[in-house]
Amino acid sequence: MERILVSSCLLGARVRYDGRAKTSDSEILTRWRAEGRLVPFCPEVAGGLPVPRPAAEITGDLVLTRDGQDVTGFFTRGAQLALETARAHQIRLAILKEGSPSCGSHRIGDGTFSKTHIPGAGLTARLLSRHGIRVFSEDELPAADTYLREILGK
Ligand code: SF4
Repeated sequence: MERILVSSCLLGARVRYDGRAKTSDSEILTRWRAEGRLVPFCPEVAGGLPVPRPAAEITGDLVLTRDGQDVTGFFTRGAQLALETARAHQIRLAILKEGSPSCGSHRIGDGTFSKTHIPGAGLTARLLSRHGIRVFSEDELPAADTYLREILGK
């Protein structure tokens, strides 16, 4: 069984910084769930942060909260645990929530907490990509489904 790592907030878990989920109603995710492929994972909670928690954004090499608290260590640990989880399931494909300082794959907050995004990726998305795992956002599920069919040889 080809398993797929998925940001748990996309699957309805209320793990975001504001205590909410960001549930996707994608038919593709529904199908994958029925096939038993999904491995839900929240790097920030796994890394030791509570729910709710202060919003954080990437600034240079650090992840900082709005009041300047350095939470980089939690984010780094969460990314490492995401990679360990992916490896444990021999995962080659991940669907991660766009825009997050952990899970974003194409854009992230610009560090000003003004809801302004800049091109970039979160710590977990970066680490998984560096280790050969294809990361797609929730906006790219058809492309991810095509990739899955390719690696399954269908
Ligand atoms: Fe969702 Fe990822 Fe943020 Fe967790 S770290 S709440 S999985 S976007």
